[in-house]
Amino acid sequence: MLRAGNISVMIRGKQILQDVSVQVLPGRFTAVVGPNGAGKSTLIKVLAGEISSTEGSIQINANEAASMSPKAMSLVRAVLPQHTQVHFAFTAEQVVLLGRQAHAATKNENSAVVGEVMELTGTSAFRSRIYHTLSGGEKQRVQLARVLAQVWEQTLYPRYLLLDEPTSSLDIAQQDIIFSLARLACTRNIGVLAIIHDLNQAVQFADEMVFLKCGRCVCAGAPPIVFTQSNIETTFGCPVNLYHLAGRSHPFMVPSHNPLADAPSFQPCIQFNNNVINQ
Ligand code: ADP
Ligand code: MG
Repeated sequence: MLRAGNISVMIRGKQILQDVSVQVLPGRFTAVVGPNGAGKSTLIKVLAGEISSTEGSIQINANEAASMSPKAMSLVRAVLPQHTQVHFAFTAEQVVLLGRQAHAATKNENSAVVGEVMELTGTSAFRSRIYHTLSGGEKQRVQLARVLAQVWEQTLYPRYLLLDEPTSSLDIAQQDIIFSLARLACTRNIGVLAIIHDLNQAVQFADEMVFLKCGRCVCAGAPPIVFTQSNIETTFGCPVNLYHLAGRSHPFMVPSHNPLADAPSFQPCIQFNNNVINQ
């Protein structure tokens, strides 16, 4: 398990995170949602061991993250940041190969993993292209392939994928592919934590949801428990309606000011209650 226990982060006198606890379980998909500036990216940086918390601790597979070497961290977790810069004229394939840096593997073993994740992410067709010449969406899929390459190989210990808005440059079809890939990663003893802006996608793909607001956890738990009108409105400060669509196990959220909210074909949500797990 990757566990953040009672994390607080203060930067230059500003409280960015306050008493936040999160658990990422192998085989499970955790979605973090919250408004801009809520502290979501900071939470990923702390979980990844990239910045230190002012209070609280991070444990990865029962080891204190603070005592782990950068190489040991690289083998157990991979991070897709919100923005990634590539400073050299690398090809797409060379960027993906960067994900293999910490592995003591042969060239053939690395090629096999890189080939597999590039197929999965649909990036094989432009493996020889210079990264800088790719579109925003293509770059994002190459970066996803890089982090998958880092943790894809089956090992005796669980690994973790931390994804900061992994679909921000992608069209709707690609977004679904990326989240389906994240779910596929879960079947390989990988725990996924992803920051997702689209609440309807978050509830569709996540096993657990964490609602963050102003650096604090509003609620956390399984979508049927926490994906409520009240929690969404409290977190985002925006009136919403929830609806059930035929054949879907999870509700659909529409901001109340959206004309769709008055569409007669929508049935108001009645199955989801307002139970809240406060942390
Ligand atoms: P989110 O990803 O939810 O949009 P962030 O975690 O990026 O939010 O940032 C949360 C808040 O912390 C923002 O107000 C941001 O300006 C502030 N912040 C983040 N990093 C720093 C930093 N290094 N120095 C000062 N303020 C920061
Ligand atoms: Mg962010």
